[in-house]
Amino acid sequence: MRIRKMLLLALVLTVIPSVAFSQLFRVYTDVVDKIRSEGTENSQIEDLSFWFTDYSGPRLTASDGGDRGNEIAIRKMEEYGFSNVRLEYARNFARGGWDNLKTYAAMTKPYYTAFSANPVAWTGSTPGPIVSEVILVDIQSPEDIEKYRGTLRNKIVMRPSNATYRPNFNPLARRFTHEQLESMTRMPEQRQQAPRQQQTPEQRERIMSQRALNQAINDLIEEEQPAVILRSSGVFNVPRATGARYTQGNPEPTCQVLLPIEAFGRMQRLLENGIPVEMEMEITNKFNDNNTIYNVIGEIPGTDPNLRDEVVIIGGHIDSWHGAPGAADNAAGCIVMIEAARILLAIDAQPRRTIKVALWGGEEQGLHGSRGYVEQFLWDSDNGEPRPGYDKFQIYLNMDNGTGRYRGIYSQGNEGAMEVFRAWLSPFADMEATTVSPRGTGSTDHVAFNAVGLPGFQFIQDPIEYGRGYHTIMDTYERLLMDDLRQNAIITASLAYHAAMLNERFPRVER
Ligand SMILES: [Zn+2]
Repeated sequence: MRIRKMLLLALVLTVIPSVAFSQLFRVYTDVVDKIRSEGTENSQIEDLSFWFTDYSGPRLTASDGGDRGNEIAIRKMEEYGFSNVRLEYARNFARGGWDNLKTYAAMTKPYYTAFSANPVAWTGSTPGPIVSEVILVDIQSPEDIEKYRGTLRNKIVMRPSNATYRPNFNPLARRFTHEQLESMTRMPEQRQQAPRQQQTPEQRERIMSQRALNQAINDLIEEEQPAVILRSSGVFNVPRATGARYTQGNPEPTCQVLLPIEAFGRMQRLLENGIPVEMEMEITNKFNDNNTIYNVIGEIPGTDPNLRDEVVIIGGHIDSWHGAPGAADNAAGCIVMIEAARILLAIDAQPRRTIKVALWGGEEQGLHGSRGYVEQFLWDSDNGEPRPGYDKFQIYLNMDNGTGRYRGIYSQGNEGAMEVFRAWLSPFADMEATTVSPRGTGSTDHVAFNAVGLPGFQFIQDPIEYGRGYHTIMDTYERLLMDDLRQNAIITASLAYHAAMLNERFPRVER
């Protein structure tokens, strides 16, 4: 009797873990093989890359360009046979839409030089083409302010920049080494925090008066109504992009233009040496009535009657900055997610849960698309409680770290997820994509899910030349590495499929 009982217990002990094992860690090698051949032999990565960059152009949040990007995403999803393809409301957007229609900037005195320039989003236009003296507003003390009063109207103004160029001796592009990937499998070593120095009253006084002076200079410039305010941004004649804080319905802010350090620095040095500078400029920007951020959604319906109302979401943000089509940031993520779902449809994968492709709007201004989705369907932040979708949520997989191939995934401190990812990435050892890091990464849309206790993840991607190009006017088709994107689509498809097939819920972090 005892012995039989013990035998039974031994049987139970061996059976239960193996059942759990076969579910959470099961790898569908036959499906992985099909995904790999479809993603390699019938890849649509090049075609999607063209439509999301050259064709769609810049896709600033709520801009006409953004609409064009959304239309392309919908057209491609429909073409590939996704279900329930739609534009879905995410959030209101107080800034409204803005497009740049014309940018021309050149120095005309002391000699002619054309400049590469990019206006600050949500700022106004020049009154047609203008030719104007450039004034260096060099104010060191409150007394200096009066020197400039009454002299800046309709002028092109710049405040001195102390940005200096330093050569960079690192290669322009890089991939992670094995050593770097290996170090990512551990938490970073805790750095000794230097004790915070208390500010002396004098230091505090100096900071406060510097702030007050800065505000007084900005007020002066605003009152004077110059035609253009120049700002220094970017190197190698490549301006970056940024946006002004603007609320729809207010007067258009004075036109602001970003010039790379070379153009800005040259004019600043000429003026500091007493040599007059003149510029010719024409900037045309258009504000529009859009005040909504949308996500583009398409689905592969689940086939299991008990699980098909549960979702696996794969996504990335579709909005970009202006001045370039945001190829690495983040047409790349959209291309990969659409291709991943296309592959699953092409091989007739029949996932048990519904797989949703979500291309988020408004990421660059504060993760609006993904946060709006979470607020509407997953978490009621007013009452601090889950919405019905919370229990139907399985996993979110995000791509937004440029064009580089996947080398693994960040687990965001979710220990239960690590074992599962090790199993699911095991078929991709030949692609060198098996690193599972306990670390977290941020600054993109999976964070919106993590914030309410849901498992959302960003892949570890080779950096390539991301830091150099993103948010600049050179983030174009040329930045995309097709073979890297192909690898990413294959791995995304496989992970999404495995998450959709589980009997159980994907591990979550205890809240
Ligand atoms: Zn991005």
